[in-house]
Amino acid sequence: MTERFDVVIAGGGPSGSAAAWQAVQTGARVVVLDKAVFPRDKPCGDGLTARAVSYLQKIGLADEVAQFHRVNRVTVFSPSRWELSFPKRPGMPDHGHTVSRTLLDTMLLEHAEKAGAVVRQGAEVSEPILDERGRVVGVVLKGGEKVFGDAVIAADGAYSPIKRALKLDSEYNGYSAIAIRSEMDADVADSDSLDIYLKLEFQGDQLPGYGWVFPMGGGRLNIGLGYVNSFKDWQAINATAFLGEFLRTLPPEWKLPSIDELKKNKSVRAWRLPMGFTAWPPWRPGVLFTGDSLGAGKPASGAGISKALESGLAAGECAIAALENGGPDDFTNYAQRMEAAWGKEYRRGRYFHKLAGNPRIANAGIKAIDNTRFRDMLLKSMYKRAEGPLHKVL
Ligand SMILES: Cc1cc2nc3c(=O)[nH]c(=O)nc-3n(C[C@H](O)[C@H](O)[C@H](O)COP(=O)(O)OP(=O)(O)OC[C@H]3O[C@@H](n4cnc5c(N)ncnc54)[C@H](O)[C@@H]3O)c2cc1C
Repeated sequence: MTERFDVVIAGGGPSGSAAAWQAVQTGARVVVLDKAVFPRDKPCGDGLTARAVSYLQKIGLADEVAQFHRVNRVTVFSPSRWELSFPKRPGMPDHGHTVSRTLLDTMLLEHAEKAGAVVRQGAEVSEPILDERGRVVGVVLKGGEKVFGDAVIAADGAYSPIKRALKLDSEYNGYSAIAIRSEMDADVADSDSLDIYLKLEFQGDQLPGYGWVFPMGGGRLNIGLGYVNSFKDWQAINATAFLGEFLRTLPPEWKLPSIDELKKNKSVRAWRLPMGFTAWPPWRPGVLFTGDSLGAGKPASGAGISKALESGLAAGECAIAALENGGPDDFTNYAQRMEAAWGKEYRRGRYFHKLAGNPRIANAGIKAIDNTRFRDMLLKSMYKRAEGPLHKVL
């Protein structure tokens, strides 16, 4: 059996659903293929930045998002304790939210379906179909079924099978973090703060990464940590054991479960988090890459949901515009959009990714951030359009 669509989207996470939602606005025939059956879990910190919230509002989910647990600030332990407010920026809410990915991703996929996309769950893409000139013209599903499209959007996540099958040559390939998380009950009041712990040490060396404690509401916490793979010994780190050690540094009165208990209930999961545009350029003939398959994660923080939404929306729009004005051989319009959005920031991010892998530099970086005056300068340069004070010492 074969089917034909204007746009075939592999992956129904935030970037695939956003791309589908955007593409169907033009009346295009769009199919989203996901190997999972929703609701499905995705290892994540479950934190929505103000930017992520703004995209969810933009696509018509403001009322739903308002129901999620709200966070108004970030508390950083570096190791001194200070607080970062969500900066007031034009067109952006001054707060974030937390929500389980099981809920968020199901909601987004249903939203794309209601808007007109065909959604097929339990449909695993095994490889792209190429024409005689090497252009991607569709995908093969496990079992052999072929689905053809004028454009294919690879929104198939950090381990993108489409990207792997195409053996992409990209000079930025390999920039990544490894992150692990667990969700649990805790004996602590629900807070409105995303807590970040910068002091993470492995065998006496400062790691380029951080630990987090995010409140989910209802007495639940999402606790995890992540570190980038420029650290020389990253492969020697047992992420699960390391998370266990991190849990033991948190207040005993929270009565957190041990890592062994968490492992038993299967909530401990690690995943790759590619960042800094690992698939650059973000397209090849017939195919556009979005979200984690593009390596759209923000190098400075690892925030990936807002980037998945933004790159998905842009890919949905650019794919249709290119198909209407010349065809699927050239999606330069999408590369220009991504470059304008994050090109400069991600160039800087890749540079710091490499530097931070050196424990001495990572240690010096932590000391600098612990210094109030340096921090003030750094934050002002990061949030140029923000109004009001950005941080306060606690
Ligand atoms: C531990 C951890 C914590 C994180 N915390 C945060 C956070 O707090 N805030 C934040 O903003 N970001 C966070 N991130 C990053 C964020 O989770 C990702 O950037 C985001 O999920 C990317 O969305 P996506 O749609 O590109 O990919 P995904 O969400 O991974 O979706 C990809 C989809 O493709 C499907 N798929 C895969 N292979 C196939 C196939 N062969 N055929 C069909 N479908 C397929 C999958 O089933 C999945 O539904 C975290 C990441 C990790 C690992």
